[in-house]
Amino acid sequence: MNLLVLGPQGSGKGTQAKRISAAHRIPHVSTGDMFRTAIAAGSELGRRVEPILASGELVPDDLTVALIRERLAAPDAAEGFVLDGFPRNLAQAEALDAMLEAIGRTLDAVLFFDLSDEVAIERIHGRAIEEGREDDTPEAVARRLAIYHEQTEPVVERYRATGKLVPLHAERTVEQVSTEIEDALDLLGEGAGA
Ligand code: AMP
Repeated sequence: MNLLVLGPQGSGKGTQAKRISAAHRIPHVSTGDMFRTAIAAGSELGRRVEPILASGELVPDDLTVALIRERLAAPDAAEGFVLDGFPRNLAQAEALDAMLEAIGRTLDAVLFFDLSDEVAIERIHGRAIEEGREDDTPEAVARRLAIYHEQTEPVVERYRATGKLVPLHAERTVEQVSTEIEDALDLLGEGAGA
């Protein structure tokens, strides 16, 4: 099963992507996590992206696309994946389409975590305090939300047009959203005759 989760920071998509990953035994591929791991390891990639993450801007497409290309080619992604945090703009969405087409695969569903900016900001502040996430400064949070509206919402519309978008009520509790997702994935399975 090839899945994508789309939504703003604070929408709960990371939490749900981890649940899907565990329940369906497919890797959770998060570009944000990959960048944070590189930063923690002090690698060349980490040094390069650290100031970008701190500012809330996007890492250049060439770097991000290359990272995803390599990750999706790994053996554990052969049976599927749940992509989280990529694509963030139309250029990345086009690169993903081309990548999948080249290996004869398609996305089964794009889970869209819909919620208001107010709720997103409230949740991010809660998490910043709980987890001490240093890249969650108020300026970076505001910048990420602005970029989400400018650059990622067109990606949502692109997938809506393909009929693969599954809109979710992301303001509900983790359990409620999780149930909504599993119901949607069950329907997909039935549709595929599985
Ligand atoms: P996330 O954990 O998905 O919120 O990502 C944290 C930060 O990593 C973002 O604010 C960007 O700086 C960077 N990042 C993550 N995914 C991407 C992407 N697909 N393209 C560019 N930058 C990204």
